[in-house]
Amino acid sequence: MTANRKLIAGNWKMNGLKADALDLASDLAGRLKGAGPVAFDMLVCPPFPLLFPVGEAIADSPLALGGQDCAPKTSGAHTGDVAPTMLKDAGCRFVILGHSERRADHGETDAVVNAKAVAAHKEGLVAIVCVGETEAQRDAGQANAVVSGQLAGSIPAGATADNTVIAYEPVWAIGTGKTATPDDVKAMHAHIRTELDGKIAGAAKVRILYGGSVKPGNAAELMAVENVDGALVGGASLKADDFWAIGTACR
Ligand code: PEP
Repeated sequence: MTANRKLIAGNWKMNGLKADALDLASDLAGRLKGAGPVAFDMLVCPPFPLLFPVGEAIADSPLALGGQDCAPKTSGAHTGDVAPTMLKDAGCRFVILGHSERRADHGETDAVVNAKAVAAHKEGLVAIVCVGETEAQRDAGQANAVVSGQLAGSIPAGATADNTVIAYEPVWAIGTGKTATPDDVKAMHAHIRTELDGKIAGAAKVRILYGGSVKPGNAAELMAVENVDGALVGGASLKADDFWAIGTACR
């Protein structure tokens, strides 16, 4: 099977003000423009208020823009929510959905994530659907079953390899400095690929990202694992040198 082109996605979470965000995004955009052909696509997902300025700053570069969430509706009386149309308007091509922090902090269920993915797809956005088990679930031997359930519930019927990316993020590895072993990542990504087969046409082409304390020191090893088609990066995406090093670790 030919390997999919890697996607290196930065989830800035609730970090950064306008000046820092513009510095970071412009730095990455400049590196991408000057680098010539690279083995990865790069994406940044800033907080909502920074989408427009960052989008304008990187508009003439290959650096892609994404939101960290979106509402399952297009418009209306939904105070505090942001519609996929608004993300599109700001220049986004991607949106992260069902991140474990949203599942935990905002009670997002698989059904909610599914409805958001439908709305995102309607606007032509690529949905990055996050799945992953907690430490207790892994210790209880339930990791595969938990991830299977999340995939079954969160991925909508209209999902394709072009409009959907999966991010496997074991909850216990996010922001903790703990990383899943390459063998565990290999086993879970193979499991996810099998689950996608039959659910999404052209499942082999769906990019499956690994997320959880990816940094320059472990990126080459993780990105070389079979069925790992990129990374979803939190902390290390806030420093241009680190995020760039994760990209250039891709072969
Ligand atoms: C994330 O938030 O998606 C993430 C993987 O964070 P970190 O890289 O900081 O573990």
